[in-house]
Amino acid sequence: MEPEEYRQRGKEMVDYICQYLSNVRERRVTPDVQPGYMRAQLPDSAPMDPDSWDNIFGDIEKIIMPGVVHWQSPHMHAYFPALTSWPSLLGDMLADAINCLGFTWASSPACTELEMNVMDWLAKMLGLPDKFLHHHPNSVGGGVLQSTVSESTLVALLAARKNKILEMKVSEPDTDESSLNSRLVAYASNQAHSSVEKAGLISLVKIKFLPVDENFSLRGETLKKAIAEDRKKGLVPVFVCATLGTTGVCAFDNLSELGPVCDAEGLWLHIDAAYAGTAFVCPEFRLFLDGIEYADSFTFNPSKWMMVHFDCTGFWVKDKYKLHQTFSVNPVYLRHANSGAAIDFMHWQIPLSRRFRSLKLWFVLRSFGVKKLQAHVRQGTETAKFFESLVKSDPLFEIPAKRHLGLVVFRLKVKNGPFAHLFGRK
Ligand code: PLP
Repeated sequence: MEPEEYRQRGKEMVDYICQYLSNVRERRVTPDVQPGYMRAQLPDSAPMDPDSWDNIFGDIEKIIMPGVVHWQSPHMHAYFPALTSWPSLLGDMLADAINCLGFTWASSPACTELEMNVMDWLAKMLGLPDKFLHHHPNSVGGGVLQSTVSESTLVALLAARKNKILEMKVSEPDTDESSLNSRLVAYASNQAHSSVEKAGLISLVKIKFLPVDENFSLRGETLKKAIAEDRKKGLVPVFVCATLGTTGVCAFDNLSELGPVCDAEGLWLHIDAAYAGTAFVCPEFRLFLDGIEYADSFTFNPSKWMMVHFDCTGFWVKDKYKLHQTFSVNPVYLRHANSGAAIDFMHWQIPLSRRFRSLKLWFVLRSFGVKKLQAHVRQGTETAKFFESLVKSDPLFEIPAKRHLGLVVFRLKVKNGPFAHLFGRK
């Protein structure tokens, strides 16, 4: 394909995308296909000779769309939302055209610098403490875009682990790092996302999933007790992942109680606000952030409620050097004249290469502005409140967990309700 053809095909694709997204509500949300449905429609091997674009384009509706779950449909209610917007789509289009791999500042200065500035904007919009800002005289922290919250949580746990092992080495210099690792223990609530368990599997750090109170919230006393018991067993507590907005019921761990315990006991406090983080653009929802001053790291997904395309996960740390000591490698081919003076985000993440993700975020923040983003969150929350009121007024249903933000948990009153016979109960 040559540029002139790309111009024409690009316009056709934009028309197709506009048509798709404008009419997506008319499509059935979940596909009616079985595993392997595509096999019969595709040749066994890639074509030896070029296929025509008309053929390729025609296969989108024929082969791809029949197997797509239409996440952008207003009828899609599974999972947390993955909202998008036109400015975000344009941002990814430009990022794909530039296609720089911004691992170091020198590998594409705009990629690093826009990300630093936009992450500071975002931190201020959410009311995060100054220690998470790149551009602040008292801060040695900052924010970075990761691919997912799962990756951010793993990065945080690996950094906490490295830091604790270095501390342990002071009194036990001759002990092997792997045996120090085997004594580490981390905590999260039993409502925490499975990504916390996965981070434990990868890092070989034991994770204890602690019981929650009647509001599905992890409390300080529970954590304190678990730490004391583990210390008695000779284990070394290292990390807590607190969740603000759990996946199951959008519950909030009690940061103002967990924070002081982590502080007193020397644990890294990481906060997973994957979905709920967006709500903190509204000051009235920041009560859940009480205790954030104790956090070592904080993560959330603008790719959920903030209308920025996946992938886009904000991750902030209060001490960037803890990331450097965990992830820094320094081969000669990656060094540059400003190494050390400029931020090299390759030291803040697991992969080397990184996309120009901040463009779409920048486009969204500028196109909507803080006020419209606040209105968007408030409208989503009000809609959920309205839906909750409908559920409450229906005697067949109940709300088993307090509604927070845009998530309404409801269920049929099975045990004693009029539908009991449908479930084989009386
Ligand atoms: N943490 C929480 C609380 C979540 O709800 C989710 C997903 O919905 C995740 C983590 C995983 O997010 P990601 O897909 O960005 O890894």
